[in-house]
Amino acid sequence: GFKMGIVGLPNVGKSTLFNALTRTAAAQAANFPFCTIEPNVGDVAVPDDRLEKLAEIAKSKQIIPTRITFVDIAGLVKGASKGEGLGNQFLANIREVDAIAHVLRCFEDGDVTHVEGRIDPIADAETIETELMLADMESIEKRLQNIVRKVRGGDKEAVQQERLLKAALAMLEDGKPARLVAVDPEDAKTWAGLQLLTTKPILYVCNVEEEAAANGNARSAEVAEMAAEQGAAHVVISARIEEEISQLDAEEAQLFLDEMGLEEAGLDRLIRAGYELLDLETYFTVGPKEARAWTITAGTSAPKAAGVIHGDFEKGFIRAETIAYEDFVALGGEQPAKDAGKMRAEGKSYVVKDGDVLHFLFNT
Ligand code: GDP
Repeated sequence: GFKMGIVGLPNVGKSTLFNALTRTAAAQAANFPFCTIEPNVGDVAVPDDRLEKLAEIAKSKQIIPTRITFVDIAGLVKGASKGEGLGNQFLANIREVDAIAHVLRCFEDGDVTHVEGRIDPIADAETIETELMLADMESIEKRLQNIVRKVRGGDKEAVQQERLLKAALAMLEDGKPARLVAVDPEDAKTWAGLQLLTTKPILYVCNVEEEAAANGNARSAEVAEMAAEQGAAHVVISARIEEEISQLDAEEAQLFLDEMGLEEAGLDRLIRAGYELLDLETYFTVGPKEARAWTITAGTSAPKAAGVIHGDFEKGFIRAETIAYEDFVALGGEQPAKDAGKMRAEGKSYVVKDGDVLHFLFNT
């Protein structure tokens, strides 16, 4: 599955957010640094109105949303790359995620200490980015040393790695994240395999005070500008509000949202933003037993998409019967869609589209 790491300086609201996301008390919020020592992992359902609609039409007994994993990664402070705070352990945790949700404190609260003694989300973002850049530089230098022999021996893979590592290092030494390196398509796979911290896509999460949840504040506006410059994503939420909402049932939650002038829970926006950031799409399998959503990366072929359900589906793939979501809904279900000629049989080279309702036929 896909993993999103929640990072940020201590006391910015990471645990509060993670709690709200997973609706558990597992990641206890507390007003002091290093409260959450082990990375906390939570699977979160991806909200998708289309799934409910499909289930309603097909009278499915069960609705199973697709999920995304959030990891609450604590311990980032100035000096983390030099082993301060939880240092290296923390950096290893970031290496394993597909994208980073970077929580920035945009709320004012005299009772909550800021580690650096001032509220400045742009400076906080830079502090963390700097640690990640330093960590990348250190790991690149180590890796360059490790492959020296292979490179001398003419090992093709090592030569390619060295070239890419050097390009990344030059960018970092210039004070910029490695994600700004222009990578050729034929290098893309090796580049991704380097797992550099500053190549991970970033979603800035502006944690604002309750009153600013609907429209943000001056600080979140600055973050929005910074995100746009970097080609990063951003969302504005109030972790406090989200925590409250997560304890309510659906009806109460809606009332609460209306009262606050919010169209939908910030967490739903956050999860969807993460989904977009990772370039993820959803396809559906729908029947009387269950309506279910599945996650794929945009551009995934039908056999690979089938493999998300089960490896055997991919191995024995024959074809996929496909109905677009819009057709399924407009025509009122599978049979009517089929009668209208809207069910297509697609082969191995078919690229699954977001919203496809699929049946896989396969050899066992
Ligand atoms: P972490 O160290 O980043 O995980 O931060 P926590 O989630 O533990 O939050 C630190 C403190 O800030 C706790 O006392 C939270 O209740 C408080 N806090 C978190 N989000 C908000 C917010 O949106 N508004 C206010 N006023 N306090 C918050």
